Amino acid sequence: MIAEIIAVGSEMLTPYRQDTNSLYLTERLNESGIGVAFKTIVGDNLDHLTSAARTAIQRADIAVFMGGLGPTQDDLTREAVAAALGIELKRDHNLVAEMYKRFAERRIQMPENNSQQADILQGAVVLPNAKGTAPGQWLETVVDGKARIIALLPGPPHELQAMWESECAPRLREKVPPAAIASRILKVAMMGESAVDQRAAPIYKKHPNVETTVLAGQGQVELHLRATAPTRDEAQAAVDQLAGELEDEFDDAVFSAQGESLEEIVSYYLQMRNVKLAVAESCTGGMIAERITTVPGSSRSFLGGAVVYSNQLKTLFADIPPLMIEAHGAVSKEVAVALAENIRELCNADIGVGVTGIAGPGGGTEEKPVGLVYVAVTNGHKQDVVQRRFFGDRERVRRWTSQLALDMVRRMLM
Ligand code: ATP
Ligand code: MG
Repeated sequence: MIAEIIAVGSEMLTPYRQDTNSLYLTERLNESGIGVAFKTIVGDNLDHLTSAARTAIQRADIAVFMGGLGPTQDDLTREAVAAALGIELKRDHNLVAEMYKRFAERRIQMPENNSQQADILQGAVVLPNAKGTAPGQWLETVVDGKARIIALLPGPPHELQAMWESECAPRLREKVPPAAIASRILKVAMMGESAVDQRAAPIYKKHPNVETTVLAGQGQVELHLRATAPTRDEAQAAVDQLAGELEDEFDDAVFSAQGESLEEIVSYYLQMRNVKLAVAESCTGGMIAERITTVPGSSRSFLGGAVVYSNQLKTLFADIPPLMIEAHGAVSKEVAVALAENIRELCNADIGVGVTGIAGPGGGTEEKPVGLVYVAVTNGHKQDVVQRRFFGDRERVRRWTSQLALDMVRRMLM
């Protein structure tokens, strides 16, 4: 069973307003075991809205419309859905009388246009609006031989949410066999999207009941897994099974099995092993320290470090001999290693990190191009140093470098 959510309102087709209702509704529908296959945003225009309604009714078992139920000229959802279904709207005179009464109680003359809120799709149930005036509608019908549920809900988020909980969720529970959705996110560090996908694809094939999505960005690839089953335990078992096989395949490249960020995982390992970390950062300018310190509790394991952007400060704060810089250049394996070793010593840390590189866009040479970075990690006994060249703009080079450094720390802790 699949759903389509249709957000109605021209304001959401401008850069200034977003459709957030559909996020709420997606969560609720998923809880009922219903996947959202389409989301549509459409302006307050009768032709466009009718066309969107026609499409939704044709391709989804459940179509939920939000917004456009008010009393004004541009509230066209009722009319458009009726046109799409080829049915009439019928004015519910009891509802109109109730509206008059409600206005009268507040000593206000009801504007005539409010009556259109009582125009009901033939066969629909009226859903009372506990938080506002526009009532919702719930229609169970058959279109081209297929069972369809169509819900019209108000746009204001608090009205929509109250109506969903009290009116729609119970009706849906009666119609839909019990089902649950479970999901997991695995994250793989420092691999390209296509490399991950190539190795994951044969494993996915063995689990056709689990929906998968690959999302790449910022030095990591995320594998989103989702399964639907009659019970929560069965759905969870299906995603866990696939997640386990993917973890076996990617082994220690998988840094997160429950959606955690790399800095969270590094912070967690540091605290678990009671290890103190210090960093000396050149081209990342403090980004590694910034990322680690976003994690609550990082003070127990992260000592701090130095941003040693200039050569002068590499010497002053991290004891790098000027002769070393002269001989190898500031962006070199030797300097990265010395930064890691020295900051570890100076801070009395267990693990030291040293980073140096050319973030660009200027400053590159034939021998040392933009994007070239060196990252070193040491624990006093073991030393890792990696040379990489990252492509893209300054921000991307810096972000990938911080990702590489955090991942190297993680691997040293494993
Ligand atoms: P109603 O059905 O109650 O008449 P409407 O869409 O016609 O709703 P509007 O006056 O257009 O009413 O919107 C009311 C408020 O709800 C506005 O602040 C609008 O931005 C917000 N809203 C409408 N739809 C959404 C949505 N999909 N996500 C978030 N906010 C929304
Ligand atoms: Mg609107």
